[in-house]
Amino acid sequence: MNHINLLNEFVDKFGNGGDIRGYFTPGRVNLIGEYTDFNGGYVFPCGLTMGTYMLARKRDDRKLIMYSLNFENDGVIQSSLDEFEIGSEKNWTMYPKGVMWALEEKGYQLDFGYDILVYGNIPNGSGLSSSASLEVLTGIMLKDMNSRNGIHEMTLADIALIGQYAENKYVGVNCGIMDQFAVAMAKKDYAIFLDTNNLTYKYVPVKLGNYKIVIISSNKKRSLADSKYNERRSECEQALALLQTRKNVSCLCELTVADFNEIKDVIEDDVLLARAKHTVYENERTKNAVTALENNDILEFGKLMNESHRSLRDDFEVTGIELDTLVEEAGKCEGVAGSRMTGAGFGGCTVSIVRDDCIDSFIEQVGRAYEEKIGYRADFYVAGVGDGAHKIDNLEEVHYDK
Ligand code: ADP
Ligand code: MG
Repeated sequence: MNHINLLNEFVDKFGNGGDIRGYFTPGRVNLIGEYTDFNGGYVFPCGLTMGTYMLARKRDDRKLIMYSLNFENDGVIQSSLDEFEIGSEKNWTMYPKGVMWALEEKGYQLDFGYDILVYGNIPNGSGLSSSASLEVLTGIMLKDMNSRNGIHEMTLADIALIGQYAENKYVGVNCGIMDQFAVAMAKKDYAIFLDTNNLTYKYVPVKLGNYKIVIISSNKKRSLADSKYNERRSECEQALALLQTRKNVSCLCELTVADFNEIKDVIEDDVLLARAKHTVYENERTKNAVTALENNDILEFGKLMNESHRSLRDDFEVTGIELDTLVEEAGKCEGVAGSRMTGAGFGGCTVSIVRDDCIDSFIEQVGRAYEEKIGYRADFYVAGVGDGAHKIDNLEEVHYDK
């Protein structure tokens, strides 16, 4: 394995000289609060120490010259600020270009292009938000590189919203605000208790004592995810419309569990009822989970994670045999406080809270059972809770292993 300096890679690809600057944005894992973010509810994500790096240098023309060490086969990809193709870009540069397009749409003028090198160590496409990481990364780079067109005055929350707009409109994925917000605002050793209805939030210390967060990637491709995701959005909208005939609310998560149980008989369709039930209960669970963590009650937090998974499996129906197997096998292991799917589901990852002295046996036991039942391997990550989007002061120190 070679330990390679990113600055050398940049100079190698784009030549020496000029003002080369570096940035980092983490991936994220949502600890609890799933499918609440487009229903105006609470989510509880934290940043990871895994993330995406960008080295960039201003050009004196309008060209965009980009290279990702994760997509070496694509080679150096050249385009320009005058070549945006909404919804039809064919390669990874649609994410940084989408952010540039979104800024222009919102009235910010970009005057010059960039040489850009990207490297990330978040497994792509597994629900840890490598796409949001790359979007917000592009946003903070542009904020830092521009000093007079208003972009430099944007807050991290503004950049998160631009990233979401890029993903919705340029890339064409109809995501909520959680991912971009989480990777922008993350803080080392804290999770973000975010109200997606109005973007108010508070940081909650992730004090797990002798427990750690273990993420398992199922390695199941999320082929169904986008269409099912949009289907769930529409089911939630239909349920909301029915509930609104009984109570004046603007989103499902404005209902408490008690409110919901009082008026739920207005929904006759069992499927719509189950979707709404998950959403309202999950929102309440998220609030309770935050209280449990604040009280250092890891076991209660874990119990709520288990309930969250059951609800996503039975009422919201977004899990699948891979995620269910991982959670079920986790539940059989010693020292596991709780376990659930995280992200959009249908594949992607689970998150578990596991006691330090049991992590090795957990990985061994769940890994073996998963491979036996599913036929291929899962990947395990003992996650560090990392900082949000930031500039890197000393580029000489940024290395990656090849
Ligand atoms: P997720 O956000 O769950 O990881 P997505 O499918 O939304 O999955 O985003 C993954 C895509 O984001 C990749 O296929 C690639 O286009 C882009 N991407 C993420 N990280 C990088 C990277 N380091 N370099 C280039 N593109 C990246
Ligand atoms: Mg994504």
